[in-house]
Amino acid sequence: LRAYSTLPLRVPITLPSGITYEQPTGLFIDGQFVPSRQHKTFEVINPSTEQEITHIYEARVDDVDHAIAAAKKAFDGSWSTADPEFRSRCLYKLADLVEEHSEILAGIESLDNGKSLLCARGDVALVSRYLRSCAGWADKLYGRTIETGSTHFSYTRREPLGVCAQIIPWNFPLLMWSWKLGPALATGNTMVLKPAEATPLSALYASQLVQEAGIPAGVVNILPGFGKLIGERLCTHKDVKKVAFTGSTATGRHIMRTAADGIKKVTLELGGKSPNIVFADADLEKAVRTIAFGIFYNSGEVCCAGSRVYVQDTVYEEVLQKFKEYAESLKVGDPFEKDVFQGSQTSQMQIDKILDYVQIGQSEGARIVTGGERLGDKGYFVKPTIFADVTEDMRIVKEEIFGPVVTISKFSTVNEVIEMSNDSEYGLAAGIHTKDVNKAIDVSNRIKAGTIWINTYNDFHQNVPFGGYGQSGIGREMGAEAMDNYTQVKAVRMSIDCVDR
Ligand code: NAD
Repeated sequence: LRAYSTLPLRVPITLPSGITYEQPTGLFIDGQFVPSRQHKTFEVINPSTEQEITHIYEARVDDVDHAIAAAKKAFDGSWSTADPEFRSRCLYKLADLVEEHSEILAGIESLDNGKSLLCARGDVALVSRYLRSCAGWADKLYGRTIETGSTHFSYTRREPLGVCAQIIPWNFPLLMWSWKLGPALATGNTMVLKPAEATPLSALYASQLVQEAGIPAGVVNILPGFGKLIGERLCTHKDVKKVAFTGSTATGRHIMRTAADGIKKVTLELGGKSPNIVFADADLEKAVRTIAFGIFYNSGEVCCAGSRVYVQDTVYEEVLQKFKEYAESLKVGDPFEKDVFQGSQTSQMQIDKILDYVQIGQSEGARIVTGGERLGDKGYFVKPTIFADVTEDMRIVKEEIFGPVVTISKFSTVNEVIEMSNDSEYGLAAGIHTKDVNKAIDVSNRIKAGTIWINTYNDFHQNVPFGGYGQSGIGREMGAEAMDNYTQVKAVRMSIDCVDR
């Protein structure tokens, strides 16, 4: 870190796809890009080359206070009481702008995160779809009338919470920005969002679109910075009414404790170790492609990655062989190169962690079927890795690796695979591959997870809620449930003096 008082508030960046754009470098507070008050900056790295992309300003506690004050002013001003149709129009416009700028936004994601352009384009498409879904909700938030007899009139309203502090991770920087921004704004809240220190660029670029969409100053504030330095202030400030976090379970636990004194509303989207089950009666070709997508999509940096594959014993060898061949056929490398499926991991820390787990797996006695090593000597690339001959007590089966590393095990009966699947502190997602509809429904009812995918995986839809059981989190993103998490219920009860009775 260094004081870098001369850093301009916009720098030109040329993406490997050939597009040149202006990257904002300042904090986005009260509708403007500003330097941090202490003029601290930090370096943003391209994980596929390990080269610096740019420096940007780094928020500290005084900037957090400034941003929260702006968000409170905007909340107390017209935003929370505005005609819901106005909020709806702003979000529709923002969705259109995201679509118009989709090639730049996808390029920024690939540059900053290392994910393949293929993945990044998918993220951006989901961002605009989700913003439109939220725009549709903004003017369709209902309370209830409750029948309590002729002497009283009782009804409820759904009201916004106030200023929301939102802390997001580096695996889906723009998608997580939208999952936090959409429901917060649709329901009349204002927000201060901290992107992950590894991937701050897309949220800053999108702040220009927030301005252009006509969203009033102070409604959205973006503070790039380090969780360890400003996280506590975000979670404890008296004017913050809700804390929404996505990231590791360890940090989520810490945030919940930190926010407890102020009784902040807390929602957490945390880690996972999700089972992906292949029954012998499944379409095996499709199942193999889907379990590969389940773990290798987004370089395995997915909270709901299907990182524990369970295959029924009668087809185990066949699936293992096909899975190995398919994993070896996936193109790994420069995220901007055509047909690359898997780009780089996002950081040095992450690749070190993944390679440590590869060592741990081997020392526990598991067998590497394919992969298990770094690719090239520049950039954080890891080959898609499959471990077989694992036992359920191994750390590689129990712990979240957050990379393109999967374990594959055998089972024979439905009861056995349900027991194995549920033997986890997590409960984010699960996959079931079968042609038997009874089995699909029965198994999905008995698995303890917030999302079950049947004959598909990592298959998100903007209107379908997503979130975890157990230590995978609290609350839901997307769908009607997200709107509930950003509102509180007010009950109104009125005495009626009956006329002419
Ligand atoms: P992290 O959970 O610590 O970071 C996520 C976000 O939390 C970042 O914005 C970070 O700045 C912020 N943060 C960190 N410490 C904080 C604090 N004390 N108070 C408030 N905010 C804080 O994750 P990480 O350290 O970047 O990665 C560690 C591991 O977490 C990864 O290897 C991976 O296994 C897991 N992870 C999971 C997810 C997920 O979606 N499940 C996302 C990211 C990382």
